[in-house]
This record gives sequence, C-alpha cells and structure tokens, in this order.
Amino acid sequence: MLSSALDAVLKRIADAAAHSRRAPPQLLAVSKTQTANAVAELAAAGQRAFGENYVQEAQAKISGLRQLDLEWHLIGHLQSNKAELAAELFDWVQSVDRLKLVAALARHRSPQRAPLNVLIQVNVDDENGKSGCAPDDIGALAAAVDAEPRLKLRGLMAIPTPHADIELRRPAFRRMHELFLQLQAQHPQIDTLSMGMSDDAHIAIAEDSTMVRIGTALFGARAQK
Ligand SMILES: *Cc1c(COP(=O)(O)O)cnc(C)c1O
Repeated sequence: MLSSALDAVLKRIADAAAHSRRAPPQLLAVSKTQTANAVAELAAAGQRAFGENYVQEAQAKISGLRQLDLEWHLIGHLQSNKAELAAELFDWVQSVDRLKLVAALARHRSPQRAPLNVLIQVNVDDENGKSGCAPDDIGALAAAVDAEPRLKLRGLMAIPTPHADIELRRPAFRRMHELFLQLQAQHPQIDTLSMGMSDDAHIAIAEDSTMVRIGTALFGARAQK
C-alpha cells in the first residue's frame, strides 16, 4: 500500500520537475505521528530520508529502526533544552533559526559522528510567532554554522503561509530561491533548498526546490493532535 503511494509521489515529483525543466528534488518522507512499522514499510520500498517534528516522538522510532540505517531530519521547532538529544539522534536539523541553537547543537554533536547537517529556517512571510529567522539574519546565522566544525551548513528551509489559494504561495518560494542564491554566493558548498509539502510541492519545484517534505500524500491524512 505505502509502496504504491511512494511510486505515485515520486511520479508527481518527476512530472513537476520535467514540466518546469528542473532536476527532480529529493523526497523527504514526513513521518510525524506515523508508526515505526509504517516507516519500515516505506523504507522497504526504497525511501531512505525521513522527517520528524518532535524530538521525543522521533527518539523511539530512530532507536527502534537503527538497523535500517535511515537518514533522519528534524523539521519541527527545536527548543534549546532538546538540542543535546537532537544532536545525538538526527543526521539533519532543518529548523535552526537562532544563534543559541547553533552553539548548543555544535557543543553536543559527538566527534565520533559525521558533522550534523544544518538548514537555516527562514520566516519568509514574516508571520508573527512563527519559527524561522528574518531574511536579514540569514548571513550571521550561516557564518556561525560555518564556523563550527561539528556542523555542516547545507542551505535553507521555509514553510510559507499556507494560503488556501496555492498559487499565492509562489512569491514566497521565489523569494526563498533568491535568498538561497545570495547565500550560495557566500557559501558555494550549500546545495539544499527545502520547500514544498503535499499540496504545494509542484509550485515549490517550479521555483527551484531541491527537497520536498511530504507527509499526507505518502501516509494519508494524520489524526488531529
Ligand atoms: C507536517 C510537515 C510537512 C508535511 O506536510 P504534508 O502536508 O503532510 O505533506 C512538511 N514540513 C513540515 C515542517 C511539517 O511540519
């Protein structure tokens, strides 16, 4: 069942990329609220990268599925007091949005592990109370990440305002791509622009996303929390 959903999503991504003459972005399977069994089923179908929103929820799945050698991304807001656990569990943290978090993640990433991959989350629509740094703060955060040997700066992530009219999300995706190119001029090694979810991935892909984060279209609707 999940393997046919995976095929359908990969085909949608490939079609959207071909339509916009872009390289297909990487698929991050968003497994928040899903069971470890569901993750294992998708892994058996070939999916390697999974995204989780809550550190504690992820902890059980990551330890339970250790032998599958999957790649785990934290995509939810990270509280500073969870940074130590996050730095142990995850391969990527996509929600870095303040200097305090950069220092905490670097301090707790073991030298035995590969450096922790980091995306800077940008509050691109300047929404009140939402995670993500202001576009003007990207440069300072990126420099701080780049200065930490236990962290590896990979790019930017954003969750635009979920306008019901999907087309209205396009300017935010376009802005993110401009910010990505500006950052790449300073840090040529960055390669990841994480944007696009189940209902707007095709627009994000047309605006040069390199990683789409898909939950509902793979696993079905989540139970309300
Ligand atoms: C839940 C979530 C997703 C996936 O959303 P869907 O609409 O289910 O595809 C992507 N990114 C983040 C940050 C999320 O919290």
